[in-house]
Amino acid sequence: MVDQIPQHTHCQICRKATTSQEPFCSEECKQQYTAMKKRNRLWVYVMYALMVFIIIVIVVSSLGK
Ligand SMILES: [Zn+2]
Repeated sequence: MVDQIPQHTHCQICRKATTSQEPFCSEECKQQYTAMKKRNRLWVYVMYALMVFIIIVIVVSSLGK
């Protein structure tokens, strides 16, 4: 490994290389990332709710026997 790549990161959204401290190339990408993260968190809650629902269904159906 002879290549010396200067310290840089890639934008978390558009994968463009950026030398700034932030992992985003622009304010627009940063906002997009924040929105995405919020949406992902919502999905985690939905998954948890679904899991709890499935467990309740299993418990109730096994109690009904
Ligand atoms: Zn970007």
